[in-house]
Amino acid sequence: MVSNMTKRDIRIRLIKTTLLSLGSLIALGSGLTARAQTPAGWKAHDMNRARPKMVTSSLQLPVAAPADAVVLFDGSGVSQWRSEDGGPAKWIVKDGYMESVRGSGYVFSRPAFGDVQLHIEWAAPVPAEGIGQGRGNSGVFLMGLYEVQVLDSHDNITYADGQAAAVYGQYPPLANASRPPGEWQSYDIVFRRPRFQRDGGLEKPARVSVFHNGILVQDNVEIWGPTSWLKHHPYESHPDRLPLSLQDHGNPVRYRNIWVRDLPEWTSPGPSEDTTKPVITLAPEVLDRYTGEYRDDQNRRFIIRREDSRMYAQIFSRPNLELLVHSKQEFGMRWTAGRLAFDLNSDGEPVGVKLLVGRAEFSAKKIK
Ligand code: MG
Repeated sequence: MVSNMTKRDIRIRLIKTTLLSLGSLIALGSGLTARAQTPAGWKAHDMNRARPKMVTSSLQLPVAAPADAVVLFDGSGVSQWRSEDGGPAKWIVKDGYMESVRGSGYVFSRPAFGDVQLHIEWAAPVPAEGIGQGRGNSGVFLMGLYEVQVLDSHDNITYADGQAAAVYGQYPPLANASRPPGEWQSYDIVFRRPRFQRDGGLEKPARVSVFHNGILVQDNVEIWGPTSWLKHHPYESHPDRLPLSLQDHGNPVRYRNIWVRDLPEWTSPGPSEDTTKPVITLAPEVLDRYTGEYRDDQNRRFIIRREDSRMYAQIFSRPNLELLVHSKQEFGMRWTAGRLAFDLNSDGEPVGVKLLVGRAEFSAKKIK
């Protein structure tokens, strides 16, 4: 009995020891393999992240500003820009471009922007000096917070999320469309600012698309928060409009032809009042008077059919357009602002129909 108890004790001890070792192994293992917490699964600035292939673009520059653009720099001066302290921008303006001056600080646009289409042209310095992030580094900071990297990435290896046209530290570009240093290059950026709730919480992250020399390199990506070197910054509520800024990273990067278009909201809100018309119910035998084939003067077909209590139209070659019955004369369309106005004879029998959509009208006579 005593020896049995001892054996049992030993067994329990063994099990406990094994469980403890397993536990510490699991703890140790998870410590060693801690996954990147970023949405990409990669930690920022990882040299192992794949770098995109070079693509040569033949886009001709400069691209003229459209009529509704705010021109931020046309080569004549930096009146639309200021230093961080509010004083005049200290960058050099020469021969139609402005150039970053080491130690002069970022420049900020005097107007503030939210959702924008931005066109900007830049050139990396010649001769190319420095390596990695030290070569032709600058940046376009949307709202002063979200950087689309400017870097001489023509023949210069760095981490993929830090090369030209990367959303810095977050998204490598889809292609490396870089031109040699000294050649003018362009970014066309579509940016949707983040939306914040009233309590300051994030409602919708910012999104950005970028074309580098006309080549799509960022495809409506969701920005994780303000971009920065080493540190991850979560979103913090900020105004709807903030100045655009250009980075002084110590390299004499040049800029020209900078223009911005304010973008309207994605969609305008719907009508404040219910503009839909009431729907009535007609008996199947009444609905069946409308069914059949109609033809317009070009011999194109309208077919009206009933399926239980639902009515459908085929107009020209578009089948299965669901109809809503508003009156004996008027059927609307469920999804579009088109309507069918029926001609009824003295017996209430349809003899023709008119499709009204947009400013167009199509009239058809009932054939059978
Ligand atoms: Mg930069």
